[in-house]
Amino acid sequence: MKRHKIIVGNWKMNLTVPESTLLLERLVKTIKAEKTEVVVCPTSLAIYSAQEIVRTADIKIGAQDAHFEDSGAFTGEVSAHQLKGFVSHSIVGHSERRKYFGEGDKVVAKKAAACVRHNITPIVCVGETLHEKQDDLTKLVVAGQLEASLADLTGDEIAKAVVAYEPVWAIGTGHVCDSKVANGVAKNIRNLIKVLHGAKVADSVHILYGGSVDELSAESFLKEAEIDGLLIGGSSLDFQKFTEIVNLAEGRVEPKSKKSNTKKSVPKPKNTKKKK
Ligand code: PEP
Repeated sequence: MKRHKIIVGNWKMNLTVPESTLLLERLVKTIKAEKTEVVVCPTSLAIYSAQEIVRTADIKIGAQDAHFEDSGAFTGEVSAHQLKGFVSHSIVGHSERRKYFGEGDKVVAKKAAACVRHNITPIVCVGETLHEKQDDLTKLVVAGQLEASLADLTGDEIAKAVVAYEPVWAIGTGHVCDSKVANGVAKNIRNLIKVLHGAKVADSVHILYGGSVDELSAESFLKEAEIDGLLIGGSSLDFQKFTEIVNLAEGRVEPKSKKSNTKKSVPKPKNTKKKK
């Protein structure tokens, strides 16, 4: 399968339903995506109305999470079964879910499988923390998360899935990963999938980068061979920035600034030594 570019906006727990509607209506009028798949993930409350708004547009609606059980006593949760027909994609294993809701790889694997069962493309997130990066554990941590989080999918299912490499230290911090480094991690992800499921699956799976991407840094990632698109948090809430990023993925516009990766890179390790 030939890969294409995918741009995903993760609105997280931002925007009320009326605010989501307004932003989506503006995006629908402006976004023209011929070769890029554009997915917007609003609050689950807005999903029902959102999919009506985008019906004839070049935008798809995604969920930010999906419970693996179809139904039952899971107060506050929304299942993949309930999302079926309303979303094309669902993020699973986002680092905020892992950190604040204690989700481990086993749960993420079950969520990814539930999505596939209900015709929803899972966007499976993996990524190392700052400490793990500083201890040179990125390759090991990402490989472990990846293998365990994809454990309940067949090779054919992985081929149609999306993996997002999102270094935890880069999410919402303004510290963007170097695009060459991110490309190296994406390459490792593809190599591991090749070892586990063969070259055809590895060549087909889409791998995104996510972590403090904006309209200035987007292009450097989109140019990398192993990176098939972007998962965008903060900048997806900004109409101008998100539109510009989609246009860059389409190859339609020059970035406003030629400077790429102008943001702060990896945060400096804290000096733990006490001053004398
Ligand atoms: C995210 O939420 O997945 C994300 C990448 O956020 P941000 O772009 O704000 O770092």
